[in-house]
Amino acid sequence: MYQVRSLYKSFGTFQALKSIDLTVPTGSTTVLIGPSGSGKSTLLRCLNLLEPINEGSILFNNQEIGTVVRDAYRIRRQVAMVFQNFELFQHLSAVENIMLAPMKVKGVPRLEAHDRALALLEKVRIPDKADSYPDELSGGQQQRVAIARALAMDPMAMLYDEPTSALDPEMIREVLDVMTELSQGGMTSICVTHELAFARRAADQIVFMEQGEVVEARPTEQFFSGTGSPRTRAFLDQIL
Ligand code: ADP
Ligand code: MG
Repeated sequence: MYQVRSLYKSFGTFQALKSIDLTVPTGSTTVLIGPSGSGKSTLLRCLNLLEPINEGSILFNNQEIGTVVRDAYRIRRQVAMVFQNFELFQHLSAVENIMLAPMKVKGVPRLEAHDRALALLEKVRIPDKADSYPDELSGGQQQRVAIARALAMDPMAMLYDEPTSALDPEMIREVLDVMTELSQGGMTSICVTHELAFARRAADQIVFMEQGEVVEARPTEQFFSGTGSPRTRAFLDQIL
């Protein structure tokens, strides 16, 4: 689905991404790990066309999107992003949060959007929270509403940026379980996360980044076999 070649991204004189190569097959799950400041969020933002790139190429379903901004709006609609802080609309209930984009952007009729939203709440395992407002939900529930809201646009891919980092430990699992289920159901997923148990279970490949570079990108089994680069092992030792 994605083929990134020699991608460079800078902010002023600061090189945030250097010579990034990355292949994300359709239906696969990629976990991005690496220290803070290594460029993980910037890479996700480039993939979602939220940041322009300086050099290189991003093919999305064989179409060049790195340098062509003409279609940015249409492409961005095909890829959903889930953030650390949920970013739900506080004045809308769970079901309304999920209905909004399909109605506004796709013109889906209200009743149909409502039915679909309820089905999605079922999928993320909180069917009873349809009429709750974000401040009445736990962090884990809010993040699952955010995932349901992302799915409501029928994305071709899901990009997650540390989706469980703001959650209390007992809520992390319920969010990861939903992500695992989606991933195993064939949703192309790219997740920035330090949850290695999730990575082992759900990921097809692990990409380790440091200082704006991909140090290592390997199939999950190989990645955890302990034969990786010393930099990767040093990082894993820190977070394990
Ligand atoms: P990560 O998500 O791995 O923690 P980021 O992609 O957020 O890393 O950031 C990578 C580097 O780029 C950091 O040094 C950060 O300060 C810098 N950076 C990110 N966004 C901007 C920006 N909009 N302007 C300037 N520098 C930025
Ligand atoms: Mg980040």
